[in-house]
Formats: sequence, structure tokens, C-alpha cells
Amino acid sequence: MNNYNIALISGDGIGPELTEATIKVLKAIQSKFEVGLNIIEVDAGDRCLENRGVALPKTSIETIKSSHACLKGPVGETAADVIVKLRLMFDLYANFRPIKAYPSVPCMWPDIDFVIVRENTEGLYKGLEFTLNDTAICLRVITRKGCERIAKQAFELARRRNMKQRVTAVHKANVMKVTCGLFAEVCREVSQLYPDIDFDEQYVDATAMRLIKEPQKFDVIVTTNMFGDILSDEAAQLIGGLGMAPAANVGENFAIFEPVHGSAPDLVGKQTANPCSMILASKMMFDWLGERYGDSVCSTAAVAIEDAVVETLCKGITIPDFGGTAKTLEMGEAIANEIFGK
Ligand code: ATP
Repeated sequence: MNNYNIALISGDGIGPELTEATIKVLKAIQSKFEVGLNIIEVDAGDRCLENRGVALPKTSIETIKSSHACLKGPVGETAADVIVKLRLMFDLYANFRPIKAYPSVPCMWPDIDFVIVRENTEGLYKGLEFTLNDTAICLRVITRKGCERIAKQAFELARRRNMKQRVTAVHKANVMKVTCGLFAEVCREVSQLYPDIDFDEQYVDATAMRLIKEPQKFDVIVTTNMFGDILSDEAAQLIGGLGMAPAANVGENFAIFEPVHGSAPDLVGKQTANPCSMILASKMMFDWLGERYGDSVCSTAAVAIEDAVVETLCKGITIPDFGGTAKTLEMGEAIANEIFGK
């Protein structure tokens, strides 16, 4: 049996509610499959700042460093001090955001299945902002190395998915000729290494429109940091909202899994938040552990989680947003029961 140390940040707002539901699923996986999970709670976020005066304490960083992977709930106002910092610290340059329509969820189209691959460490989110007299300036940093490695991740993913075999590079090179120009040029170069994968390019404003008009045509979208952030919130609305949107922050040696959304203060304490975002993030964690450690049990666990989500949704066990009556925790329990029942 393989054992994994999993650092767990429960986060702020609806984070603890989602985490409670997700832990039910992790426990079901642990007892059903030959996989040991040592879950270590790690303090970070708004509450941590309030209690300890720092949003991401050194001890938390050390615990995350010594774990095999990190699962994270949404963090509130201190997100930039927690997840943005962690992405840079661990060089988690690839942000995978799957956008997939699940049955029994009100989706704009039933056959949506694509992934946004967002560069995670550069661009306008690099944090290089300053003022010069009355002028505010934000520097957009795009490097050849950064473009190359994210483009390669996108093409490799298109191959692995073995679906439409298409990568769409999204940029605005007609206006941002230097920064987006480099991104587009490198994507074109990398596409030459993958003759089996179709490659096309779109301007980001056109993509925003096409996501609504014909989202079924996308397979893998690769884009820069801020464009990817904005497009993924838009895309989540196609498949039932942010509660159905998980994400993986992946580097060469480490990965952090989390919902796409923030702490959703409007839903706190109501038990109406959809836990699928974090439960599907845990599914992505098992996929990654399976690949990284060559552990087929983890890969099987990932499939079991997704199947259990589908079966639960098909039984009509959903949150009020989708016409159901289930509470956040009840959905987690129902998904866990599907795993036990296999
Ligand atoms: P950030 O600014 O940190 O990126 P965001 O833009 O994702 O956060 P959120 O507050 O997380 O903002 O999400 C926007 C809205 O989406 C929430 O106010 C809430 O109504 C809805 N939402 C977010 N997460 C969920 C969820 N898990 N289940 C149901 N609804 C959700």
C-alpha cells in the first residue's frame, strides 16, 4: 500500500464547508482502495492572518514542502498572499482548469469538455506594480521559457486526452505585439513538435464570444495568466457555475489542487455551496499522484471519484442551485457512499 502526506488548507468563507464534504470522499477512497492518506491540516488565509498575524506562516510552508501534494480550499482576501505566493514559490507554472458538462447539471450545452491551460507564474499577475507620480504602472512579464513550457503542457495534454486533438492558443497579439507576440510565436514553434495535434490561434475577445457560441469546439485552450483566470470564470458558467470548476496548479515536482472559485462570502454557513469543485479537485490530485508515482491505485481512485460524482448527480442529489435539496455536507456523504458502494 502506498502512503501519501497530503497538506490540507481548508481556507476561508465556504472553504471549511467544502473541506468537510471533501474529507468524507477522501476517507471513502482510503477505506475502499489500497491508498494511505496522512492528511495534515495547514493554517493559511484570512483567519490565519487574524489569529497569527500572517496569512502564510513559515511552519505552513514547511509542512506543504514535506508533503506529497496539497489540497486547498478557497482563500478570501489574502489569496494573493497564499496561493499566488505558493504558485511562485513551488514554480507551479501550469494551471489546468477542466470545463466539463456533467449529467443532471443545468449546462448551456450537454457536450462541453475542454481544458483551459493557464500560465500561472508570469504575465500581469507577477505583482510588478508601482506608481510614478500620478501614473499607475503594471508590468507584464512574458518569457520564452514560460511560453515554451506552458505550450508543451497544453500539447501533451491534448495527446493524453485523445479527444479532439486540438490546441487553441489564446492571446491578443494584434494589440500587445511584444508580449502576446512572443507567446503566439512560441506556441506556433511548439506546435511544430506535435504534428498529430491541430493548432489554431484566437484573440482573447473572440474566445470570450466563442465560449458562449460554440464551446463544444474547444479541446485544450492555452493562454497567459490573467486571460486564463478571466476565461475560466466565464467558462465555468457554461457547466453549472463555479461550484463545478476544479483546478490543478502543477510544477515539475509538486502540485496544489483547489476549486477555481474564491471564498464566496454570500454562501457562508448556509450549507448551500456546491462541494463538487473541491471534490473534483481531489480527483485531479489522485490523477497527478498516479502519474507522478506510477501508482495505478491512485489513477483508479480518481476514476472512482468522478464516477461517484456522476452517479450522485444522476440520482438528483444536488444543491438547491441545481434544483435539489441536498446540503453541502450531504452531497459529500452521498458521493462517499457511491464510492463505498462500488
Ligand atoms: P476571487 O475573486 O477570489 O477570484 P471569485 O471571483 O471566484 O473569487 P467567488 O466569491 O468565489 O468569487 O464566487 C462568485 C460567486 O459564485 C459567489 O458569490 C457564489 O455565489 C458563487 N459560487 C462560488 N463558489 C461556489 C460554490 N462552490 N457553489 C455554489 N456557488 C458558488
